[in-house]
Amino acid sequence: MNKIEHIGIAVRDLASSNSLYEKLLGATVYKEEYVESESVMTSFIQMGESKIELLQACSPDSPIAKFIEKKGEGIHHIAFEVKDIHMEMARLRNLGFHVLNEQPKKGADNKLICFVHPKDTRGVLIELCQSIQD
Ligand code: ZN
Repeated sequence: MNKIEHIGIAVRDLASSNSLYEKLLGATVYKEEYVESESVMTSFIQMGESKIELLQACSPDSPIAKFIEKKGEGIHHIAFEVKDIHMEMARLRNLGFHVLNEQPKKGADNKLICFVHPKDTRGVLIELCQSIQD
């Protein structure tokens, strides 16, 4: 895996969280995007090589809604950039990690993504992401 691509933070309200994080970081949200596969609205702030991703649930059955219900707002996942997500998923499966998706799915910000089960990673939800070249 390469660098930390982004850190995902679950929030109840995207608009007020955007302005909070813009103030905190002295940076601007460059993109807001709806992700159908997770039923979330996301926003991104670039921080050097990495990003902060804010996530707000768009329906009660969204993974973000369930997360907030259980744990409250806070850090939801850490995403690592990979060159070849299929290869990386196979590598992790071979090592005994449980990958949550059979196939990579379309994530926000033009990425193919996949999650690793937090029970295998000391409670941290790990996302793999690969940029989609077009
Ligand atoms: Zn993410």
